[in-house]
Order: sequence, then structure tokens, then C-alpha cells
Amino acid sequence: MSGADAAVVFDVQRFSIHDGPGIRTVVFFKGCALACRWCQNPESRRAQPELAYHADRCLPGCRLCVSVCPEGAILDRMNERVRWDACTHCGACVDTCPSDALVMVGEQWTVERLLDAVLADRHFYEASGGGVTLSGGEPVLASDFLSAFLPRAKQAGLHLTLETSGHYPFALLEPLLPELDLILFDVKAGGRERHLDLVGHDNHQVLANLERLLARDSGPELELRMPVVPGLNDGDASLDQLCATLRGLGVERLTLLPYNHLWEAKLARLDTKQTALGISPPAKDYYRALEQRFAARGVTGLAPG
Ligand code: SF4
Ligand code: SF4
Repeated sequence: MSGADAAVVFDVQRFSIHDGPGIRTVVFFKGCALACRWCQNPESRRAQPELAYHADRCLPGCRLCVSVCPEGAILDRMNERVRWDACTHCGACVDTCPSDALVMVGEQWTVERLLDAVLADRHFYEASGGGVTLSGGEPVLASDFLSAFLPRAKQAGLHLTLETSGHYPFALLEPLLPELDLILFDVKAGGRERHLDLVGHDNHQVLANLERLLARDSGPELELRMPVVPGLNDGDASLDQLCATLRGLGVERLTLLPYNHLWEAKLARLDTKQTALGISPPAKDYYRALEQRFAARGVTGLAPG
């Protein structure tokens, strides 16, 4: 199944209070074309389901998985179980594992299944002004699926938020706009070359899509956000270029998302080229100073708390 029938989802988190107004269910779609060095969900990058190995769950002396891999990718070593260069993510080893040390991340969800899952908490949405948030990965890459899902969710009265990086042809986003209530649009850094260096693509397409969203006179509310990564996208040159671009587009404010380093613990489980950054989350004083640096450049940058 693919396209409008189903999409690969790797998590459905209930009772979130961080990804849009009220209490929300956040749906995490697999697949993203960017390669942000600080990606919070490295398990989201690959579009298809993938193997993950949790060494802390492996049972000493078990060895049930060692002979089942058709690629010879399972090693007889607890701390280095999978040869990722040989693994095809077929999943054949997962069923042999009695302790969920080997698991697949992501599976196909149909429109009906996802509707059932998100509607289970509709009373919490109604009581709190919440709803459903589409996240990832890049959910817009599942545009065909969302074109089938969103009208049904809207018909059920749900408030619908999209979290997006903006890096895709606008034709994928356009059909989704009538059903969405809020778009949380991430800008990563100022300057074309810096953007290319930090996330793997320059910002040409992101800014073109942002410009088109800003030019609308109807449709979902738009909120800009910047994930702050101290030492990578908070330098004076990056802020100068980002704020000049935003002012040129008529944007006066954006939300500053505090840095979170918890993603680094996921790397050892995954087949990924993403590497640890070793950046510690800064103190609150840092964010107050950052707000002032944005203000000095004519943009209101708002950090929580
Ligand atoms: S997912 Fe498939 S290829 Fe990868 S280690 Fe397991 S059995 Fe081998
Ligand atoms: S089957 Fe699971 S628990 Fe057993 S050795 Fe393999 S990874 Fe460890």
C-alpha cells in the first residue's frame, strides 16, 4: 500500500501540549529530504520502515537472531549486533527476538486506522481547544495520503496543525491548505550556503514556498519557528541574513525553539550517518540574550519561558 491508501508512520503520540494549541495527538510520518545535523528524529529520515537495535534489551546468551539474517548482517556481539552496511531492513530478524531488542521503526497506516486513533481523544481536544498535529519527518511528502485523511478529519471537527520544513514542491502542499488550521513552518538558518551546510540543501525552495504561503489572504494561520542550535545557527552572520530575509518577506516575529540534545541517545540504535554534536542545552539567560539579538535586527524572536 502507498499513496492515498496508506502512509508510513513511526509514532502516534497522545496528550502532547507542545505542538500547537491545547491537548493534541501528534502523528509522526517517516521520510524527509533534509539532513539537519541536529535532527530530533533521526529515525524519521528514511521513508520506509527500518530496523532499530536496542542493546539494553538484548538477553545475554540468547543468540536467537544470529542465524536468521539472509544478508549475514547480524553479528554475534551484544554491543554491536547489526552490520548496518549489509542490513536491507527486511525485518526478518525482528520476529525471532523475544525481548524487542530488534524492532522495526515505522509501519503502514491506513486512513481509517489513523482516523480511529486520533478520534479516540476527541473529548480531550474539545475540552482544551486541541486537535491533531502532523509531524515527522516531513509530513507533506505524504501529500496523497493527507489529501484523503485531512478532509475526513476536518469533517469530524478536528483542529489540524502541520509542522513542516517547507522543502518540497509547493504542489504537494497546495491541496492540503483548505483543510489545515495552522502551519508551524520551520526556518533553519540564514544564508543559502549556511543552510546547505547545516541541512543538506540550500534554502531556495523553502523561501519560495514561504513566500507563497505569506501571499495568501485566506487559509491556515502561519507561525514561523527556528530550532535554535547553539554554535551552528545562532551566529551574527546567520542572524543578519535570516532577519534580513524575514523582514524582506514582511515577517515580524518567529518562535525560538529551545535546543534539545536527547536525540543523540537514539543514534546507537539506528542505521544513520547523523553524528552526535555534544552541544549542551543553554541556560535561560542565553535565550533572553538571543531575543535581544533578534530585536536588534528588527525581528521579534520569542523563546518560551
Ligand atoms: S532487518 Fe533483515 S537484513 Fe537487517 S539484520 Fe534483520 S534480517 Fe538482516
Ligand atoms: S534475538 Fe533479540 S534478545 Fe536474542 S540475541 Fe538477538 S537481539 Fe538479543
